Amino acid sequence: MLQLTLLGATGSIGGSTLDLVSRHPDRYSIYALTANTNVDEMVRLCLLFQPRFAVMADASSADRVKVLLDGKPTKVLSGETALSEVAADVEVDIVVAAIVGAVGLMPTLSAVKAGKRILLANKEALVMAGSLFMDEVTEHGATLLPVDSEHNAIFQCLPAGYTVGTKPSGITKILLTGSGGPFRELPLGDFDKVTPQQAIAHPNWDMGPKISVDSATMMNKGLELIEACWLFDVDETDIDIVLHKQSIIHSLVAYNDGSVLAQMGMPDMRTPIANALAWPERIKSGVEPLDLIRVSQLNFEVADENRFPCLRLARAAFRQGGTSMAILNAANEMAVENFLANRIKFTEIAELIEKTLENVEAQAVDDLQTILADNFRAREYVQQQIKRLAI
Ligand code: NAD
Ligand code: MG
Repeated sequence: MLQLTLLGATGSIGGSTLDLVSRHPDRYSIYALTANTNVDEMVRLCLLFQPRFAVMADASSADRVKVLLDGKPTKVLSGETALSEVAADVEVDIVVAAIVGAVGLMPTLSAVKAGKRILLANKEALVMAGSLFMDEVTEHGATLLPVDSEHNAIFQCLPAGYTVGTKPSGITKILLTGSGGPFRELPLGDFDKVTPQQAIAHPNWDMGPKISVDSATMMNKGLELIEACWLFDVDETDIDIVLHKQSIIHSLVAYNDGSVLAQMGMPDMRTPIANALAWPERIKSGVEPLDLIRVSQLNFEVADENRFPCLRLARAAFRQGGTSMAILNAANEMAVENFLANRIKFTEIAELIEKTLENVEAQAVDDLQTILADNFRAREYVQQQIKRLAI
């Protein structure tokens, strides 16, 4: 029986993970569930899964969960330290990192330092801390398995016995696919009128609001490009981004003998999560089988950096190196948050990120403090710019 800590239990990835746990009660049991402030959902999940610990972001949410779980065996905690503790506890075998954004970095690193098997959905953590994160994985013998569908697809297409973090041999390109989101065909002149509701309505995937907006700007693909560079030890020039509107092929790997391997399946996150949960075994996921006759067509197009400037910005941040990627990520998180709150226009997301990259100077990554400091500086810079825009 494997003990699982699920960071971000109340989210979209959290829900898919718990669906898989319910299907395999003989293999997995929940050690800890964590969430931000969704008290009712956390209580419901605790009653269902009876975890040893429930961790909320703040004390007042935790107090409300405690009251509602009175007499139940789950111990309720709050705050960052508790989050990192349940990710590193000796009794835990698997940590699913499914918190959204930079706040997921510390607990995920804590699981890495405890040498856990980590199922990484929280791409922002790896984008921010890339080299340092991967060094810690090696140093502490952690097993890092990608849950992001594209990276899980690439992992499945790499040679048997491949270890994440090492350079794969015999490959010439990684082809990272993306649907192009809801605005793949939107006339360029209409981009500044896009509303949050339109941006979060993804045609193929059902995801949290932040990653849905990232998919609409294609910053999601930019972050994934950086994520892939760190996971598979390749350069950004080794990766081509290919628009594939059906989201059936989840990414491909090209080899030097001319072979190109793809991983396919219905767009349902339970497939990559099940793959990483059971790896190197395979378990049932409940995902609808792929019916190629019904899909009938697979289309591919070039990803246009004029339409999606975030792709260009992400490549540039990776090339620049150091804390540029933490700055890119922080600026994006702030811009998306403000777009969702109707404070800035859709087109201002990319503009703000570009401005932040130009004005907040990146440094070499010496330690975690440097990364966190530049994450903070970038957020402050965006905040000031947004105040200016509002005047
Ligand atoms: P979501 O918004 O649905 O859920 C986010 C989770 O993080 C929630 O449980 C929330 O309580 C928790 N959280 C948010 N802020 C927090 C804070 N300050 N402190 C503690 N916990 C906090 O997001 P999601 O779509 O499930 O995405 C989660 C991560 O997985 C993201 O990094 C995303 O990029 C990645 N991802 C998601 C999908 C998908 O299909 N949803 C696919 C690939 C990768
Ligand atoms: Mg993805």
